[in-house]
Formats: sequence, structure tokens, C-alpha cells
Amino acid sequence: MFKDYPLIKESKKTVTQFYPHIPKKYLSALKRVFSTRWVGQGPLVDKLEMIFSKKFGNNLPTVAVGSGTDALHLSYILAGIKKGDEVICPVFTCTATNIPLLYIGAKIKFADVDPKTLNISIESVKKLITKKTKAIVFVNYGGLPCDLIELNKIAKKKKIKLIQDAAQSLGATYRKRSITSYSDFTIFSFQAIKQITSGDGGMIVFKDKKILKKARRIRWFGIDRLAKQGGTWENDIKEVGYKYQMTDIGASLLLESIKEFKKIWKHRRNIFNIYKKDLSKNKKIHVVDKDGPFEHSNWLFTIILKKKDHLQRILRGYGVETNQVHFRNDRYSIFKKFVKNKRFKNMDKIENEYLVLPIHTKMSLSDAKRISRLINKIIV
Ligand SMILES: *Cc1c(COP(=O)(O)O)cnc(C)c1O
Repeated sequence: MFKDYPLIKESKKTVTQFYPHIPKKYLSALKRVFSTRWVGQGPLVDKLEMIFSKKFGNNLPTVAVGSGTDALHLSYILAGIKKGDEVICPVFTCTATNIPLLYIGAKIKFADVDPKTLNISIESVKKLITKKTKAIVFVNYGGLPCDLIELNKIAKKKKIKLIQDAAQSLGATYRKRSITSYSDFTIFSFQAIKQITSGDGGMIVFKDKKILKKARRIRWFGIDRLAKQGGTWENDIKEVGYKYQMTDIGASLLLESIKEFKKIWKHRRNIFNIYKKDLSKNKKIHVVDKDGPFEHSNWLFTIILKKKDHLQRILRGYGVETNQVHFRNDRYSIFKKFVKNKRFKNMDKIENEYLVLPIHTKMSLSDAKRISRLINKIIV
């Protein structure tokens, strides 16, 4: 038996931090998959790529994979990042952003966080650029887009590849365009607690149409799968690929969830706005958000406050689950060799002060109202 702790016990009275969104018609969708010969990567993966490209990807090439981490790893390979190359990365992110670079043997150069948005600090990025910089990787934290124009300017001037970890920003836009328009590679995640899910899954969207075939080959050992399905030996393997593919089982769930995406987005938006309106009034709380020419994806709602632990403990007593979600990556031993004698001033300042509140489609708007009322009572 697994112990319930540290997650809270689910009941009518509790609000969990996350909850997977399962589309209404999931059963009929799965039934259709299981009545065909394709349960692994098949025609539904192709269909998903097409629809995703239209809806979220600015009609750019897309490749569906097994997870957001796969999408990052494959993007790094396609971007030509090799052993010893310097890559500028956010110090504050899901470890999935940075771990694939350890496999490649790249040199990670951590950039500090912007203490107001928790996105990468542009100032810090600029300081880290050298002749050896191959790419800049950035995350739109919680779904709040980074300064995409400024990052593009930097990358263009220095001829550096831009890789956008948009695992948390499905549906976010910048200057009314899909965020995928602003980087060489953009990756999404369909992990259990992301806005839409296939259990695990991911997507790469990229600008260079010439690498589509290569991307598909590397997703499948390095083999041209279509050629191989012809059943004759005409397909050499000239580059090392892996198994990064998505399955039709997963794609079928995502196709259903995409139909519900507007509703999902709106519900999350409403919860985000309730928290924002009620908590912005509190002088002891900084709401992590920013105004600008963009649309937030509402994946996380984060506050910064001095008495974070106190608040977290009391909310838990009321059946409200909160968490920090991500931790600074420079503290993990696996990154030790990249952080010797490095200081992250902004990260130091906020590391014990941020807290993420629940947002998902299982909770109601009145839950959000109750939670912000509670917080305003506790933090005075
Ligand atoms: C979820 C997430 C990932 C990893 O995605 P998986 O699908 O879990 O592999 C990567 N980066 C960020 C910022 C994430 O939030």
C-alpha cells in the first residue's frame, strides 16, 4: 500500500493541487483505437500532428513524441547541440528541461531567474553569451510568456538557436500569434497534470521544414518507418535515433481533449483571474504575472510571500493542497559541475517564498474564491 501523504486525501471537502483532465468521450475514443491494428504509433499520431500544427503551431512542422522530456532531447539533437557546446538554461525549471543536456554532454550555463515573473532573466542571459554558446533554452513559467521579442533579438544577433520549453504554455500567444512563431524549436508536454494529457506525451514544433524527415527518423531508431513498412530492405540506418514516439492510444485522448480545449482554457483562466483579483489586494503577497502583448496559458498560479511555509501548513489543515512544484536546479548533485562558484542572486532571494495554488478542471470557481478568502485571512 502507498501512503497517502504527502498528497492530501481526496474528498468533497479538499482541493488537490492538480488533477488530470480526462475528456468526456475518452471511452469511445479508446474503443475506436482498440478495434484497429494500430495501438502504437499509427494514423492517429499523424492526425494529431496535423491538427496540433493548425491549432497551436502556426502551421509549422510538428512531431509527436512520448513526453515533453523526449521533445526536449530530440530538439537539442536537431538543433545540433553536441558534446562540449555551451547552452544557456534556466536555473528555475522542471529538471526535464536540463537533464537531456547531460546525456548530450553539453555545458550547461545556468541563467538566473527574474524575481517578479520567475521566467529567465534576460540580463543574466546576456551576460552568459560567449563564442561557444550554441543555444538558449527558456521556459514560459506557469504559462507566462518570456520576452520573446528580446530573446529573438539576442539569438539573431549572435546566431544562436532558440529552444522554447512551452510544456506549461499550451494555448499561450504573443502579439496575437502562436508562441511557436518565436523560436527555432518549441516543445509541449502532455504529462498527466498538464492542460491536456495522454498519460505522458509531448510535441515538437519547429521552423525548419527541411529537418522534418530527420526528426521522424530519429524518433524511430533512425529508420525511415514508411520505407520499412514497404517490407523490403532498402533502409539503411545512418544516424543514431531512439524510441521517442507517441502511441495512437495517447493521440486518441489528445484529439478528444483538443476539442474541449477552449472550455478547459476558459475554466483555468477564470480561476486564475479570481485568485489574481483577490490576492493582488494583499500587500504581503506578490502575484506572479505581468501585463504585456501576450496571453497567459494559466497552467500555474504562483504567489510570492515571506510566510510561505506558514500559509502552506494552514491551507493544508483546511484541505487545500499547495506546492512549490519546481525547485532550483543548481542544488541537484547532477548539475554540480556547472554551478561551482556561481551565484544566483534572484533565485536566492525567492527560493523559500513562492507557492503554487490549485488550478484544474475538477475544482470550481467557488473553490478558488474560498481559497483566496482563506489566504487573505491567514496573511495579514
Ligand atoms: C512538464 C514539464 C516538462 C516535462 O514534460 P514531461 O512530459 O513530463 O516529460 C518539461 N519542462 C517543463 C517546464 C515542464 O513543466
